[in-house]
Amino acid sequence: MPGSRRLAVGLPQLRNRFYSRSIIRRTPSPALWLDVLRNLLLVHFLLRYTRKTFIHLRGYGLLGSLQKVYREVYRRLYGLFLCLPFVQSKVQAQVQKSIVELQEKLVPSGPGVTQYTALPASGWTTEQVRAELDKLEQMKHTQWEKGRVSGAVYHGGDELLTLQSEAFRRFGVSNPIHPDVFPGVRKMEAEVVAMTLGLFNAPESGAGVSTSGGTESIIMAVLAARQKAYAERTVREPEMILPDTAHTAFRKAAEYFKIKVHKVHCPAPSYKVHIPTVSRLINSNTILLVGSAPNFPHGIVDDIPALSRLALKSKTPLHVDCCLGSFIIPFLAKAGFDAPDFDFRVPGVTSISVDTHKYGFAPKGNSVVLYRSAELRRYQYYVCADWPGGVYASPSMAGSRPGALIAGCWASLMKMGEDGYLSTCLQIVGTTKKIEERVRTSDALRRSLSVIGKPMVSVVAFRANTAQKDTFYKVDIYDIADAMTARGWHLNALQDPPAIHVAVTIPIVSAVDEMLKDIEDVVDACRGNPTENKGDAAALYGVAGSLPDKSIVKELASGFLDTLYET
Ligand SMILES: *Cc1c(COP(=O)(O)O)cnc(C)c1O
Repeated sequence: MPGSRRLAVGLPQLRNRFYSRSIIRRTPSPALWLDVLRNLLLVHFLLRYTRKTFIHLRGYGLLGSLQKVYREVYRRLYGLFLCLPFVQSKVQAQVQKSIVELQEKLVPSGPGVTQYTALPASGWTTEQVRAELDKLEQMKHTQWEKGRVSGAVYHGGDELLTLQSEAFRRFGVSNPIHPDVFPGVRKMEAEVVAMTLGLFNAPESGAGVSTSGGTESIIMAVLAARQKAYAERTVREPEMILPDTAHTAFRKAAEYFKIKVHKVHCPAPSYKVHIPTVSRLINSNTILLVGSAPNFPHGIVDDIPALSRLALKSKTPLHVDCCLGSFIIPFLAKAGFDAPDFDFRVPGVTSISVDTHKYGFAPKGNSVVLYRSAELRRYQYYVCADWPGGVYASPSMAGSRPGALIAGCWASLMKMGEDGYLSTCLQIVGTTKKIEERVRTSDALRRSLSVIGKPMVSVVAFRANTAQKDTFYKVDIYDIADAMTARGWHLNALQDPPAIHVAVTIPIVSAVDEMLKDIEDVVDACRGNPTENKGDAAALYGVAGSLPDKSIVKELASGFLDTLYET
């Protein structure tokens, strides 16, 4: 056993025992077997850790690995610093203050506001409920109706809303978990999936499932990939490679399902995921590669064909997140815009998430996850054969599901039709290009702002112009976001790099000139003089966000979540 001899060099006692006993006694004793076992275990662990180290070094490089260690140590030390009693009390006081401010903003109080925290002793009349619903609808809010909100409300047209409510009423009690009781809902659900498969050029073998939203679609695709890797390759320590701009739903899935995440940078000027890094990070534990078409932060479409080549070469599944692209990106080519390759026509793509509740204009609570084959879809199913409640089978996370939402989705898709989506694609992408063009070329904006990458779909992101050396034109991008908020707009603040974006929706199409005018005014006002009294975006991303340890931000965000349930 040359291997064990080499190993035993550092362990003289073990070696002596091994030779003396085996030569003298010939029949090996239990103690000897124990030694051999110990050696084997040692070899096993050494090999394992050597391999892990090698894979890590290949993925991140020597410098990258050292940087990772440095950042981790720095973060931990900073975390310890924050735990010092006097620092801790200061931080806590500040966090509490911010949370109270948040509550004052979000939770209405004072005279005239009644909080209903217990059931009415006797039920209200229909009129009373209606009157209260009126009040709730009219609570002071950012005017999405006037196109003042980025993303969030994707259609909101009266005719479509009326049709959706009618579909709700008809199928209000329905639940697709009982297909025999509600055959119409089963039919509509299958048809929504079939139409979406067609739109994304799935092959004959293609299959899909409808879900409650983009997050669930993504969680299901990640689950399917993990289960597949476990079943077919016994991968016990799954890893997934994400562009760092990929939606957080992937990180959520990784946390839920214990999958290690490798986040890959998306460098300027293209802001697409860095393909050579993805390539270096693939190893035998990789269960899934991910690309976005487009991503949420910058509206950039990753290089899906390049990811596909890596996926095919390494036999790894590739998920394309079209949650946001949904029913716009398939119409780009027909509408005459530049169109990337992103769907099942790219051979390595194995699953796609599509939000019918974004640019499909279905009511919120609708999305679809598509697979290249029905076998892959099976890996997301949950089946329990021995439950006292009966044999139980459900396609996705939920048990009971709202058939009303499926009816609302089906009605929206049928009402819109190909021509409807083509026309909205023209309007929405046209408006996105208009914003991009204005930021790039207008004298009022181009010196202070720069567009991130080359947006192709419905999102345009911009940051402070870093090439600008003249302090007169310098702006703090978060001040711009806050100043827009003060003018009644809601744009999305981004981080790493600091930026803001507009996700164009149907209501924004009619409001874009007003929006651009306000952006120009605000940029003019913010030039050269960073605002003294920081607004919410500037406070959250500028100060708290710049700390290496994110525990304060997490604390604030959790406080925000608590606030949602305050009465
Ligand atoms: C919105 C979005 C999702 C997730 O969708 P939800 O419906 O909010 O769960 C996923 N990916 C991208 C790119 C998105 O924009």
